[in-house]
Amino acid sequence: MTIAIIVHGGAWDIPLALHAQHIAGCRAAAEAGWDLLSKGGSALDAVEAAVRVMEDDPVFDAGRGSHLNQDGEVELDAGIMDGRTLDAGAVAAVKCIRNPISLARRVLTDGQHVFLVGTGAERFAQRTGIPLCDPAELVVERERQAWLQQGSKALVPGAGFRPQAAADTVGAVALDIKANLAVGNSTGGTFLKLPGRVGDTPIFGCGLYADNHMGAAVCTGWGEQIMKTVLAKTTVDQLAWLSDPMTAAQVALVYFQERIGGLGGVICAAPDGRVGWAHSTPYMAFGYRTADMQAVRAQMGRQKRQANSAYQVERGEEE
Ligand code: ASP
Repeated sequence: MTIAIIVHGGAWDIPLALHAQHIAGCRAAAEAGWDLLSKGGSALDAVEAAVRVMEDDPVFDAGRGSHLNQDGEVELDAGIMDGRTLDAGAVAAVKCIRNPISLARRVLTDGQHVFLVGTGAERFAQRTGIPLCDPAELVVERERQAWLQQGSKALVPGAGFRPQAAADTVGAVALDIKANLAVGNSTGGTFLKLPGRVGDTPIFGCGLYADNHMGAAVCTGWGEQIMKTVLAKTTVDQLAWLSDPMTAAQVALVYFQERIGGLGGVICAAPDGRVGWAHSTPYMAFGYRTADMQAVRAQMGRQKRQANSAYQVERGEEE
């Protein structure tokens, strides 16, 4: 039996000045997850803990520090899934929750429903003992300034997703000592999204998927494209057919890019604890540790721009 964890801190054109913070945040998250797994903790506990670390870190577009929507508000989405039972929980468009991943976990544990949104999700939080916060607590000055400076430009219809204006959504995949896989993720969504917009992040099969029999994957990037290509389940299907998680991630990302010009990334783990990753954006921040490693490795994945100006999908390589 073995344990493993891989986390990501978003795939986009992450400014060089923010690379060190992204890498440090991914390292801290992977270490928090590994710590639990190494003490016999469950994969669900590990992904929740790892995602909470990144939600609390304002460098990421999750929890405090998230991007603002066109109304200048934070609206958060998160999801979690258990690869043993296929039990799942998700929340979307919540405005008063510090750690949406823990609310998603509460939805999973409660079991009555799988997905709650907006004020209904917030009422469920109160009923199950998760305190609401002041929405202003989630807004940081960096994002307020970005909204003030660029808000009017994004109101152009069809402005769409640009890698420069994308997000630092966070996600985690873990394997525990009982051979159970789990996935979790959390996001403030894309910068200047329409109020009420929900991306791929909390949607099962799109932003996340886990099945002990096949593997587990979490995605990041342009949510509208990820939803159309059901990218997390596409990656898990590849994991089931191919023996190598690196190849599975690459095959899924090549399909994503070639079919729809997809901009994004994926991290994944096989049921035996090997991990993989790939992205079609200039950068993807991630960190991981598997049984054969003495410490978490956290790094910034980089891609080259091709002559046709798309970003080449590169197979993740161990550094
Ligand atoms: N996929 C997220 C969304 O579209 C954004 C991201 O992963 O950066 O909401």
